[in-house]
Amino acid sequence: MPRVSAVSGMHNGSAAQARLGMIAAVIGMLLMIAADILCFGPLLKGAAGPVEPVREEQEELEPEPEQVKEEEPPVFDVPETAPEVDYRRLVCVPTNALPIREEPGGKGDALTELPPGTMLRWYGEEVAAGGNLFYHVETEDGAFEGYVTERYVIPVETPADEALLDIVDATDALYTYEEMEEDIAELLVRYPDRIADEVIGESLDGRQLHALTIGEPEAPQHIMMQAAIHGREYMASQLAMKLAEYYCTYYDAGTYRGIPYRELFAHTAIHLIPMANPDGVTISQYGAEGLRDPEYREAVLGAYERERLKFALEEDVDEHTGWVDHYRIKGYDASLTGDGPFITQGEYTAIWKADARGVDLNRNFDAGWEEVELKEEPAHSSYKGEVPCSEPEVRALTEYSERYDHLCYVNYHARGNIIYYDAVGSTEEVSAASEDLAKRLQAVTKYDIVNTTEVNNVNPGGFGDWAQRILGKPGVTIEVGRYPCPLEIGEFPGMWGRNRETWAMLLADAIS
Ligand SMILES: [Zn+2]
Repeated sequence: MPRVSAVSGMHNGSAAQARLGMIAAVIGMLLMIAADILCFGPLLKGAAGPVEPVREEQEELEPEPEQVKEEEPPVFDVPETAPEVDYRRLVCVPTNALPIREEPGGKGDALTELPPGTMLRWYGEEVAAGGNLFYHVETEDGAFEGYVTERYVIPVETPADEALLDIVDATDALYTYEEMEEDIAELLVRYPDRIADEVIGESLDGRQLHALTIGEPEAPQHIMMQAAIHGREYMASQLAMKLAEYYCTYYDAGTYRGIPYRELFAHTAIHLIPMANPDGVTISQYGAEGLRDPEYREAVLGAYERERLKFALEEDVDEHTGWVDHYRIKGYDASLTGDGPFITQGEYTAIWKADARGVDLNRNFDAGWEEVELKEEPAHSSYKGEVPCSEPEVRALTEYSERYDHLCYVNYHARGNIIYYDAVGSTEEVSAASEDLAKRLQAVTKYDIVNTTEVNNVNPGGFGDWAQRILGKPGVTIEVGRYPCPLEIGEFPGMWGRNRETWAMLLADAIS
């Protein structure tokens, strides 16, 4: 197995801190194994129900002790063999809650509603009913056994102990630029041998644009990712950072298709720009007041003055969650009557997607830019700028991307619980590769997939268009979450469950 050496150019974490991180990882792994032996092991022997042949993925659900020994002498006695399991672990990923029922199908009372993130055991029994597929499962605590719809449960090979993932806070929806910078600094201290940070530019309002490399920077292959190029979609940054933390934490203990994560990352490095539009994120979270430069505060307020009369939001409250969905009222023009309702300044800045001067970064790339016919002036979204690549964030993204010959491009946006693939103007070969990429991600996340070129009113000029159309690389846009942006934190556990093993899948496919 290739070794990953410490990398130059990383922040300086002391050896003692690195050792602490390693000890934490080992303790976590032991806890996981102990939990299996103490809680689940004995249950397995008597577990009834139809048992399917053991799948390939099941064979190495537990980490191989050798991986830990390779880098540092073992601190604890790690069991030589992992406990035997004859089930697959699934994680629940509904938006709200997943009913588990005595009978397959939608009828009858639910035994209980499982919250997203609940771990289940599945022995392979599946039943079709009413046009849907249902799995016969039991909760890991053994409290409930019954049927759940297959659509909202995702197989998980490496069962992470969430308590070990204590850097990126996923309990509060307001994931700020400052919080992200603190999290990056902590990851660098704790995992100096597996993550690197580079500042690749500065936003208009003076925020640093970070590019993280997870894995071996000199790896033969590379994958490019970015999140939150649209300001209000900052939960995508939170998810991307949580993924970075997860893979750093489980670098030694995690496996996918039995391949250790460390080996996957030695072959393919992930380059992640976790917050491509930090000014837009700040505007969405704090309004114009959040900006440092008075010129840009004025730009935001100017956009509000221009747009407020033609903009009203209609509320729709979800009776189950209490979450409020917003619909923009089409064709609304309050200037005709002089009456409200008007969108308030706070409501307007909260849904801000553009950068600090009202340019939509995802319409500013030099890829079909001339074809974009949306807004004429700076606005909260959809204004493409005066010339292509006018914005420093766009230039930083393109220059950084061009350094490597990336296998593919993954863009994290919010919302829709959907994966878009392909781009207008891409070659047949790139279209097919993008579709293949989307299908592989669909298999892991169970998101629906949609060909962008078949969507009405689609506009180019985005990062994905640039990657597919200009660079000729396959790309997808993962739209996480369902409710309006900014998303509620209640959406996080489901989105985390869907996405947690996506990187491992991409890396495993890259070496197969
Ligand atoms: Zn977006």
